[in-house]
Amino acid sequence: RRKAGILPSLEDLLFYTIAEGQEKIPAHKFTTALKATGLRTGDPRLKECMEMLKVTLKETSDGALDRHLFKKCVQSNIVLLTQAFRKKFVIPDFQPFCAHIDDLYENGKNLSGGQVADYIPQLARFSPDLWGVALCTVDGQRHTVGDTKVPFCLQSCVKPLKYAIAIHDHGMEYVHRFIGKEPSGLRFNKLFLNEEDKPHNPMVNAGAIVCTSLIKVISFSASVPVQVINFMNKLAGNEYVGFSNATFQSERESGDRNFAIGYYLKEKKVSTINLGLFLPLPAQLCSIEVTCESASVMAATLANGGFCPITGDRVLSPEAVRNTLSLMHSCGMYDFSGQFAFHVGLPAKSGVAGGILLVVPNVMGIMCWSPPLDKLGNSVRGIQFCTDLVSLFNFHNYDNLRHFAKKHDPRREGGDQRVKSVINLLFAAYTGDVSALRRFALSSMDMEQRDYDSRTALHVAAAEGHTEVVRFLLEACKVNPVPKDRWGNTPLDEAIHFGHHDVVTILRDYHNQYSPQDSPANQQNAEKNLDGML
Ligand code: GLU
Repeated sequence: RRKAGILPSLEDLLFYTIAEGQEKIPAHKFTTALKATGLRTGDPRLKECMEMLKVTLKETSDGALDRHLFKKCVQSNIVLLTQAFRKKFVIPDFQPFCAHIDDLYENGKNLSGGQVADYIPQLARFSPDLWGVALCTVDGQRHTVGDTKVPFCLQSCVKPLKYAIAIHDHGMEYVHRFIGKEPSGLRFNKLFLNEEDKPHNPMVNAGAIVCTSLIKVISFSASVPVQVINFMNKLAGNEYVGFSNATFQSERESGDRNFAIGYYLKEKKVSTINLGLFLPLPAQLCSIEVTCESASVMAATLANGGFCPITGDRVLSPEAVRNTLSLMHSCGMYDFSGQFAFHVGLPAKSGVAGGILLVVPNVMGIMCWSPPLDKLGNSVRGIQFCTDLVSLFNFHNYDNLRHFAKKHDPRREGGDQRVKSVINLLFAAYTGDVSALRRFALSSMDMEQRDYDSRTALHVAAAEGHTEVVRFLLEACKVNPVPKDRWGNTPLDEAIHFGHHDVVTILRDYHNQYSPQDSPANQQNAEKNLDGML
């Protein structure tokens, strides 16, 4: 056995992976490789590594790290770094995935149409050309494209967040004493309650007003209560969360409908609303500002069961997250909710500023933002992006993940799939499992694949003496009967070497008939034979 000390450490393995045969790793090469995994150098989980890198680079003359210095830099965050470079993140091949996202972004960019909301000047002044998409996976992989650093107000996108806070603070049973769970079929700001005199759900204004009244606020002031802001900061992993006082003032001035809903709720004794204290609060929460980038982390916290991916903080209970996603799924997109659930099949919430907070549960959070809205109040480009996203990737809740259809599954590793398929193929040949081989052939697997030693399924089956497998591979799959492995051996050599006489006979007979024109390239023939044998 090897002595433990001789085994390379994780740090060394990481060094070799990134150095690609060089003695030293230039700092920019390290950060470029890091970014390709989806991690950002500003990720709070890499703080120690980045600080050490800065200090260490000052000591070097050429800005490059040898094995020793590299180890010093990476050792405090080695677990996360190893995960990233071993492709253990939810999107293992992050770069190709991002290239697809950029294409979808471009599709959206070409769209015109829609109207920028103009009921308050703060919204009316936004250019209709603004368009940004940011995503954050449950492992904290980040990608952004377009106007992703421009602050805008959450508006109705805050509704699922405040509902989540209410559930987190009080539990489902209590919150739903005052609010239903059913789509209303009515405009979001309708002054209307269900048959039990409750708001239909927390995603319409009446329900959101009740949620707001349930948030434990200690004191009210001119701005958003500090514990709500703290909460938003935690959801966003301490990325940008602001407040637009101008929007708040305008919302308050133009918010008669919401005040009316508030008084109506008071009349119906829904919740314990103390209107004097609470009336400005819904408008304050609507005026909380985010950027696409920070909001994508918020959505990712929802995708990640309430844990913020980039800080690891537990922000919400699993119950709060599940309930929030369920209601976003059924009620999040105004009067388009049913169609969105049908076509996109993902929980989302849109707002009048043009944001769509989209969650791919257990995979990623996305914020798309573009101010022009369609007739139902959803961002025109945002809707297009969401629709395109699920036509390309199998993210729809009811897409099948086991049998590959036409869609991509970015959760699977592209490069390794071939390795896995060779292993499965050779293992089936080794154990003599003809029915597994039939399935592989049927799913168009290349039955002539070779392993590291250039051995094929036919080599393995011949060496093991599995006559039925040898016949199937030759006659049904029409594999090349004389492939050579790295030692120059053919399947026939193997059968002779291990004394499997019946296999020798099959191979010889077949070999005598075999002519190069009848090679595996002759697909039609192979398929005809397959039909007969499967
Ligand atoms: N400020 C708007 C309202 O409360 C929010 C609208 C929205 O984003 O849906 O009516």
